[in-house]
Amino acid sequence: MAFEVQKGTLYVVPTPIGNLADMTPRALETLKNVDFIACEDTRVTGKLLSLFDIKNSLVSYHEHNKKKQGEEILKRLQNGESASVVTDAGTPAISDPGEDLVRLCLEHGVPVVPLVGACAFVTALSASGLDSRRFCFEGFLPADKGEKLDVIKSYKNEKRTVIFYEAPHRIEETAKLLLEILGDRKVCVARELTKLNEEICVIPLSEFCGKLQNTAPKGEYVLILEGAKDEKPFFEGLSIEQHVGFYMKQGLDKMNAIKACAKDRGVSKNEIYKHFI
Ligand code: SAM
Repeated sequence: MAFEVQKGTLYVVPTPIGNLADMTPRALETLKNVDFIACEDTRVTGKLLSLFDIKNSLVSYHEHNKKKQGEEILKRLQNGESASVVTDAGTPAISDPGEDLVRLCLEHGVPVVPLVGACAFVTALSASGLDSRRFCFEGFLPADKGEKLDVIKSYKNEKRTVIFYEAPHRIEETAKLLLEILGDRKVCVARELTKLNEEICVIPLSEFCGKLQNTAPKGEYVLILEGAKDEKPFFEGLSIEQHVGFYMKQGLDKMNAIKACAKDRGVSKNEIYKHFI
């Protein structure tokens, strides 16, 4: 199948997160045919291209030069050249450089075409068995411990599944803080996805912390945490009369007890009052 590359267009091209077989034919054709490739580390991308026998010119685009390089890349695109943006692994712009370049292009009317490919958190989530209907992706937690604590605390009542990226040298501290602050929940630990030592397990956080104490963490991790459980309201199972009676035993008069019961249940006072006529 032929892949046509359009002039003046930025292609967002995912690359493998481990297994080279995950490079798609469309990604290879695009990298071959664009005028140049903006990449995070020219050595890493250079190696990938040579493995696939692709020759193209590389422009470095990373966290520390993105402002200046972004403007240069934009100029070239506006002059009719086509480009791909890639990162060291996975989908650009997902906890990786690329987001700013995409935004810059869109702000200047330069078309952006995303390709489909490897992304660590999607891969991990698909095998986690945890609720994937509603989830939030946090990516990397802040390195600063205070900021990290604040972010973790903000998930205390989060019912959706929460996804984190973590580096091996921080995984132990992060796992301990998650356990301390959010309590013992199920966690899917996905390590070295698509690589020889791939490991995916779903265990209680406490067990994961125990494991980390006994073996030095190795490789890259995605942690997927079960959301907070729905806490049952205290009045579940009580009839309306029992619910109102509960408040009266606490010292409220009947009208105020009806009001409190209605508030708990999110209904009007009249709705409750009807039960006492
Ligand atoms: N853009 C990438 C993506 O699409 O997933 C993410 C890049 S981010 C800089 C790198 C982090 O992604 C790692 O620290 C790790 O948390 C996660 N990651 C990347 N490759 C992985 C793999 N093979 N197995 C598990 N986690 C991985």
